[in-house]
Amino acid sequence: MNHALILTGASFSYPEDYHITEVPVRGTGAHRIASHMRETGEWDIEVLDFVDAWTIEELKDFVDSRVSSSTKWIGFSVFFTYSPFSELTIVTKHNAIAKYVKEKYPWIKTVVGANKLVNVVRHRHMDYYSIGNGEHAIVALCEYFVGRNPEPIVKVMTNPLDLIDMHGVKFNIIDCFRDYPAYPHRNPKTSYEERDFIKSHEVLTMELSRGCIFKCTFCDYAPLGVRGDNSREVGNFKEELVENYEKWGVTHYCLADETANASSGYISKFADAVRTLPFQPQFHGFIRGDLFVRRKQQDWDNMIDMGFTSHSMGLETFNHAAGKSIHKGFSPLQLQEGLLQGEEYFRSNVLPGNHYTCTISMIAGLPHETFESLDNTERWLNKYWQNQITMHPLYISQHVTNGIDAVSEIERDPSKYGYTYREMGLYDKAFMRFADHNGEFAFEGYSQWESLSIKEKYNLIDVENTTKEILKDRAAETKSLVWVHPSGDYDYIDMVEWAAKFQNNRVIELNRPESQSGWHMGWYKQHGYTDLREVYNGNPPIITSSDVGRYYDFIDNYKKDKMNWYK
Ligand code: SF4
Repeated sequence: MNHALILTGASFSYPEDYHITEVPVRGTGAHRIASHMRETGEWDIEVLDFVDAWTIEELKDFVDSRVSSSTKWIGFSVFFTYSPFSELTIVTKHNAIAKYVKEKYPWIKTVVGANKLVNVVRHRHMDYYSIGNGEHAIVALCEYFVGRNPEPIVKVMTNPLDLIDMHGVKFNIIDCFRDYPAYPHRNPKTSYEERDFIKSHEVLTMELSRGCIFKCTFCDYAPLGVRGDNSREVGNFKEELVENYEKWGVTHYCLADETANASSGYISKFADAVRTLPFQPQFHGFIRGDLFVRRKQQDWDNMIDMGFTSHSMGLETFNHAAGKSIHKGFSPLQLQEGLLQGEEYFRSNVLPGNHYTCTISMIAGLPHETFESLDNTERWLNKYWQNQITMHPLYISQHVTNGIDAVSEIERDPSKYGYTYREMGLYDKAFMRFADHNGEFAFEGYSQWESLSIKEKYNLIDVENTTKEILKDRAAETKSLVWVHPSGDYDYIDMVEWAAKFQNNRVIELNRPESQSGWHMGWYKQHGYTDLREVYNGNPPIITSSDVGRYYDFIDNYKKDKMNWYK
């Protein structure tokens, strides 16, 4: 039996005395790949989760405890979007282990996987960078590693993101989107193992379909514009739910679908499957607001029966012209009316044991958006929407020429939409530096910025100047320019500031946390909230050290169990 390991997990931190936190999440892609390869019957693949909770020494011990002459490769995967400019702790740990493996076990190949090259461009000591849905690419690589097939199609690129500190650095890239497309995928069933130590309160990730049928102009996901049936077969959907319930007691899921309500047919098919189960699952997923409002007759009862009552809804704007410009041109008035109807309907009809929540996601800075229309949006949201909102300044990546990563229509040609660029000034740098260090002003961060004196603000720049060697790769040469809105009335920095102020006011005025995600469902259950209304009604839980212990103990136990598994 051939052997491989994958080290994965999203970044998280142990919280202290704070009312909201990043929860530890397992690396979905890694488990999917491991399941896929195990089905061949020729590969034993073990996944190590929660990398951020492990020290480098502990990770080395883990690798040493598992590696044998059968070990052909070690994989690394990341979960969220990471900056191409700096190396997050999780990347540093991956790099340290990859280097260790290369020195101590030179026959073992190293592979890092992600949805985008930009997210793994800081990974080092990797033989291959697999970008996109990787099931077919990993099969091709494994066949090569065991000597049965020639090397898969590899694109060798040098400094593909044109970063000033990466001249001459080579990447062997497997372009899954183009060379090994794995979408749609009819059977993306993921099976977990005893040695994954899954707990019943956990929120696992699964998918109903792969790819999005739409093509919003700001969206840089892939694949977009998918035609035909892109859903999974209902049989393996049901099998996955039953297996996770019977083996681990899990009932909570985040749906990885780009748009989980794209088709009423899919919702109906999966709802019918759930109706036959002897237990009630709960799903959180990304949905389109216009479809949600327009299809209430077809979808709402099916969604409730399915347990799909936790939503992240990308509305982006209430400015009609702005909405039309990004291919989300539904009437804002109808949208607002339908949202409130939906909220009331879901709150009233959610099944016992399940909860309802809906996070609205907005973008500040789209074409045609003005300060006036943004202020109107803020007024409506603060008056009528008691639930969560995330307000993102429009992000236009300047790292779009590598030919691998998906690129939004706006990113492909910002000038077509009227966006221009300007250099970052000293104030911008101090501001963005503060934002970077304060989670883009989450919660009270903006108040803290405002409370600084001008001297203190500029001191941030002095710090930057004295540590230039650390920050050299953030210079304007690496394309950290600021977009200027087509109207000429504002730019990216203004929108970061506007969004921060908006978010800050919601927290202070409405006393509600703003960054809960679907993965928090298990965390709330642990804290005794069976219905998140308790949280939304103005009583966000304050995390105490005993709460931290209650939830985070499972991570410490996971590490112990993992290390003791073969003893
Ligand atoms: S924003 Fe959502 S609906 Fe639009 S293309 Fe992207 S994933 Fe699809």
